[in-house]
Amino acid sequence: MLKDEDRIFTNLYGLESWRLDAARKRGDWDQTKDFIAKGRDWIIDQVKESGLRGRGGAGFPTGMKWSFMPKEIGARPHYLVINADESEPGTCKDRDIMRHDPQKLIEGALIASFAMGAHAAYIYIRGEFYNEAMRLQAAIDEAYDAGLLGKNACGAGWDFDLYLHRGAGAYICGEETALIESLEGKKGMPRLKPPFPAAVGLYGCPSTVNNVESIAVVPTILRRGASWFAGLGRPKNVGTKLFCISGHVNKPCNVEEEMGIPLRELLEKHAGGVRGGWDNLLAVIPGGSSVPVLPAEQCDDLYMDFDTLREKRSGLGTAAVIVMDKSTDIVKAISRLSYFYKHESCGQCTPCREGTGWMWRVMERMVRGEADVAEIDILEDVTRQVEGHTICALGDAAAWPIQGLIRHFRPEMERRIAARKGAVTAKAAE
Ligand code: SF4
Repeated sequence: MLKDEDRIFTNLYGLESWRLDAARKRGDWDQTKDFIAKGRDWIIDQVKESGLRGRGGAGFPTGMKWSFMPKEIGARPHYLVINADESEPGTCKDRDIMRHDPQKLIEGALIASFAMGAHAAYIYIRGEFYNEAMRLQAAIDEAYDAGLLGKNACGAGWDFDLYLHRGAGAYICGEETALIESLEGKKGMPRLKPPFPAAVGLYGCPSTVNNVESIAVVPTILRRGASWFAGLGRPKNVGTKLFCISGHVNKPCNVEEEMGIPLRELLEKHAGGVRGGWDNLLAVIPGGSSVPVLPAEQCDDLYMDFDTLREKRSGLGTAAVIVMDKSTDIVKAISRLSYFYKHESCGQCTPCREGTGWMWRVMERMVRGEADVAEIDILEDVTRQVEGHTICALGDAAAWPIQGLIRHFRPEMERRIAARKGAVTAKAAE
């Protein structure tokens, strides 16, 4: 359980002003110039030692990702790109950082950009986040007016510009290379990797794409020390984490907690518990819609961290915890996700373009019980054909929820099919 003094996002709920003066009183921009004076290697080493793993879903070590950028700042500029295209169903944590604690992100952008030799960074914000974009732009303007950005940013001798770019409502632009394409003014379609963005990124230049939360925690890590951050949480799954709790709980909320907090403690301490009590829990999607669902029997003593959830064949993802009680039609719920991925597929690779539509159509028949039992295996087989055979992870994201459903709720799928067959037979006999 996280102590109040260990919270990074002290204004997550907007109880105080988001303005620069108030942010500075809360400690933002304190010692920033000193950190930059310590050099690029020192910053990257601190982030590595802190054990910070990317908060956008993949959980890749942030310091290591930064170290992939070329050391030499040659003829080509380097860029930091901040992914604020928060579109994963159930996820709304970056939105609150931008609404209520924007200076943490802006300060983090300067520090991270300096560490990677970038004189410019772009924040790509989800198109629907109109109010957040206005707020963030106002916060950026305040930082420019105070000399924290621009020429000789914050008096540290590093010229740095920060640009805000609004997306246009496509989920796929949250994928880092689709985001880069969109930022360049092209249609948001993922690129084949390699080359990775650290070699060929924005405008063909070395670039790193990081999630909002990953960047916004960096200044506090430097201020409080890498060992402080590394001392929170569980081995290899450290620090604090923003969790978005939604669905069948009494008080849906966003909350900053220690990485690895047990699920039940998270829900009962912050979200008023499962509606109707813990025994009324049917299932949880622990990390945004792209990870497999877990049934209630696997939710006792479930540590909410990257490695534990991977061992359970699910994932922490964006830490968007979607709670479903026993009133949920689980087949219909997963089918709705299948529709989402079919709708959001960019369509450039066949397994995803054709597979997402096919999976959704079969899932709809499963909802109505119109399928044959043998089709459950066929459906599973198709998810395996899509998984790992596409340009980007959207194909996996479409396949995994269905795989989770079949793994844990196959009897319910079969029950529907049997019930429908029974009903049809009875009608024919009338
Ligand atoms: Fe586009 Fe889907 Fe292929 Fe990703 S997996 S590139 S979304 S078609």
